[in-house]
Amino acid sequence: MLNVPPQAFPAPSSQQRAAAGGRAKVPLKPGRSLMDWIRLTKSGKDMTGLKGRLIEVTEDELAKHNKKEDCWICIRGFVYNVTPYMEYHPGGEDELMKAAGTDGTDLFDQVHRWVNYESMLKECLVGRMAVKPIAAPKEITSVSEEKKQLNGMLPEKKVLGASKDLTPSYDWFQTDSLITIAIYTKQKGINAELVILDCEEKRLRGEIIVDDYSYLLEVDLNHAVQEDMAVNIAEKVGKVEIILKKKDTVHWKILGQPLENHNTFMKRTDRGLFYRKCKLVSKTEVTHDTKLFCLLLPESTHLRVPTGQHVYLKQIIAGTEVVKPYTPVLPFLPLDFQEPSCHDSAHIYLMIKIYSCGLFTQALDRLQIGDYISVSNPEGSFKKSQVQNSEELFLLAAGTGFTPMVKLLNFALTEVSCLRTVKLMFFNRTEDDILWRNQLEQLALKDERFEVQFILSQPVRDWVGKQGMISSSLLSEFVKRSRKDSKVLICICGPAPFTEQGVQYLKDLGYSQEEVHPFTA
Ligand code: FAD
Ligand code: NAD
Repeated sequence: MLNVPPQAFPAPSSQQRAAAGGRAKVPLKPGRSLMDWIRLTKSGKDMTGLKGRLIEVTEDELAKHNKKEDCWICIRGFVYNVTPYMEYHPGGEDELMKAAGTDGTDLFDQVHRWVNYESMLKECLVGRMAVKPIAAPKEITSVSEEKKQLNGMLPEKKVLGASKDLTPSYDWFQTDSLITIAIYTKQKGINAELVILDCEEKRLRGEIIVDDYSYLLEVDLNHAVQEDMAVNIAEKVGKVEIILKKKDTVHWKILGQPLENHNTFMKRTDRGLFYRKCKLVSKTEVTHDTKLFCLLLPESTHLRVPTGQHVYLKQIIAGTEVVKPYTPVLPFLPLDFQEPSCHDSAHIYLMIKIYSCGLFTQALDRLQIGDYISVSNPEGSFKKSQVQNSEELFLLAAGTGFTPMVKLLNFALTEVSCLRTVKLMFFNRTEDDILWRNQLEQLALKDERFEVQFILSQPVRDWVGKQGMISSSLLSEFVKRSRKDSKVLICICGPAPFTEQGVQYLKDLGYSQEEVHPFTA
């Protein structure tokens, strides 16, 4: 659908463009990059054919616009004329045409719900679907109504998509100096990675992840609070306490006004991404084209990115919001895996390759220390339990596809006692492209469970190691079970064609779907 896949615009010479099956299914014509699209939208051209007029669109009207040269699509109640965008869509015209003249919201969400199509397509907006608008949240007037709504007893309609018994609830109480909000998740095993809190000005947002669901507390607080807040989690009973420090020692009559999605419980994938602004505090070179960016979370944010998950960064580039995913790493590879390491949770480290003609990475590289960038909540399908049940872990990484392996290595070698072997096969173009080579070699010397192999696709002169691209013969040797009944997990990450080919080879070698985890967006 209307996606801007991260690997969307490979250079004409790149290996990505040559490969079939990557997400950029249809090579874009020259002059049809995202930057070209942004330029066109700013040119003042009438993109809808309506000269800037917005209309109400009925279903019948929408259905009439179902041809390439006249194609309207509805996303979340808004109708866009996507005909001018066809040639710029990295997924190809056919992909867009699947939703021609219909509601494409589901199709869009399946592919890349994080892409900000509102910004990308704002000049293509035809209008709204002619349906009754959803009622705005009711203003709270009386104290009893307020109590009812802000003491966890929400009207039925607010409890979405899950059985009522499992819906978390909350309560709050106060002392002279503190406000404590207690959330009862009704689930055991809630940990710090499942609690995401932000408090900006008086706006408090607390999201608790409960399996594939998300519970949200979203309140405009009655009075100001200090920036630092505390979070206490009682894992065994699934209770989360948010402790806010009052700015003034006044008695709060109410907690605050509920915001639109307050006290809702819904599928995680249905919840929009939330961003907070983080400060760039350092930028250090990793290789000739890759840098380690260190971002500082606001003091009033509680966010831990789980192993194997990514975040989205958002920047305004030439007036358009552009969003790309990145996988946080650690500041370095810890070499002492005896104790669970206690990493600082105020910073997010990102290892990012700067492409010479990359839209997003060029803008990122121009950021100065002290500048701010928006960072989303984490996403991703990887579950730690996949490693916890394994005896042998094989990691196949290519280029910056190494990034999810960093936290994975740390977790596997520190916390998974049943793992006998952890092997990394790291594919790069040249020796100069290998990320953290020294650290990986040190780790292999230090921990006998760990082994690393470097494979170069464009080696120069005296490289004595392995060379080539991912292949069945390379893999069959590398991912061999050491025992016939060994429980293995194979994680793979890199350019889309690399990952797709790897998954196919592993399938052909007899590995089951459960034994292979491909990292994708
Ligand atoms: P674009 O404007 O999309 O591309 C412009 C030019 O850059 C292309 O013409 C080409 O020359 C070059 N280019 C871009 N991508 C490639 C490629 N893959 N191979 C060859 N040439 C290319 N990247 C990181 O550096 N670190 C991460 O931690 C990271 N995590 C990711 C996590 C996920 C889940 C996904 C899907 C991708 C991740 N990426 C990561 C890739 C990242 O999202 C962007 O795709 C990348 O930074 C390029 O963005 P861009 O806008 O600068 O390039
Ligand atoms: P790169 O272009 O420098 O290539 C590194 C190696 O990948 C090459 O040496 C080669 O062995 C292999 N490779 C490249 N193109 C291939 C192809 N067409 N077929 C088979 N193998 C191929 O890599 P890069 O520029 O560092 O790109 C890294 C990729 O990893 C990006 O596409 C990025 O989006 C992706 N990535 C994904 C995630 C995720 O979680 N999904 C995380 C980080 C990076």
